[in-house]
Amino acid sequence: MDEFEIIRSYFCRQVTDPQLKIGIGDDCAVFNPGSGHIAVTTDTLVEGVHFFSDADPEAVGFKSLAVNVSDLAAMGAVPKYFTLALTIPEYNREFLEKFSHGLFKMATSCGINLIGGDTTHGPLSITITAIGTTEPGMEITRSGARPGDEIYVSGELGGAALAVFLKSNATHLTDPSLETDSFMKLDYPQPRVQLGCSLAGVATSMLDLSDGLSSDLLHILKLSAIGAYIELEHIPYSRSLFELDLFNRINFAVSGGDDYELCFTVPPEKRNTLKEIAEKLGISVTRIGTVTADRGEITYTLNGIPFDIKTRGYNHFAK
Ligand code: ADP
Ligand code: MG
Repeated sequence: MDEFEIIRSYFCRQVTDPQLKIGIGDDCAVFNPGSGHIAVTTDTLVEGVHFFSDADPEAVGFKSLAVNVSDLAAMGAVPKYFTLALTIPEYNREFLEKFSHGLFKMATSCGINLIGGDTTHGPLSITITAIGTTEPGMEITRSGARPGDEIYVSGELGGAALAVFLKSNATHLTDPSLETDSFMKLDYPQPRVQLGCSLAGVATSMLDLSDGLSSDLLHILKLSAIGAYIELEHIPYSRSLFELDLFNRINFAVSGGDDYELCFTVPPEKRNTLKEIAEKLGISVTRIGTVTADRGEITYTLNGIPFDIKTRGYNHFAK
């Protein structure tokens, strides 16, 4: 099967979108941008680096797009289009069927259309560029947080990092349903598109959690020139962390990555608006702390007592 048959067989899907003038098949895709602003983001996933070599191709397809859509969500952008640069070591029908199935499952769930790409031969890697739209001036950047704002996260944290740990150490939880939860978070992250789009005018800053709360939050601290006070007892720990002791729970949820939840700041006077939005969408949002004026510093406390994340984090967790 050649490159063009691969594209036709696995990646050409009917797109009905009056703004899209030219889709897959020409030198470029062409769309009418309308009146909004355009938000663009790219992420690459490399086998052995971003996903395990024996990962389910369906999950690889799903996640490759999900992590890009999550970046759009973190800007408050509505997903519109994406391109796919796919490098594969050889033609593998089973891989391509499962990969494209996972990819389009994600695409359909958030209404984003594939409009072009590139297909090449080499070590497995996937680069996706995702394009979204925002109302002009309503983008939610990392730089708008102010002292006194409340810090929130969506969903639960730590499940995906636990799955990476279990897999890397060939170990298991006692309860298989908790383990399934954890692997679902790693393999099928659900980007918070509706929440992200609803927070324009409510959140003062926002990003998505990909490397872990403790390191991702530093980006907001730096760009907003602020500090943060985080109350560890308020972190929404993933239910899959139930069998771990508190220190390990904290470590996976605060220092572990791959959650793809949103972390954002909201001024106290918008607290009720946020509550209404979250209730309407049926998404949990949890206040985990407060923005301070201590530029660049994150202070962690556990029930009011200072807690050193770096020295008190994960060391060891029993089988
Ligand atoms: P070019 O020679 O101009 O780079 P290609 O031969 O690479 O074009 O691709 C032919 C058409 O197929 C283009 O419209 C391109 O955007 C699209 N395409 C290539 N690979 C993919 C892919 N993996 N998914 C979607 N569209 C693709
Ligand atoms: Mg090409």
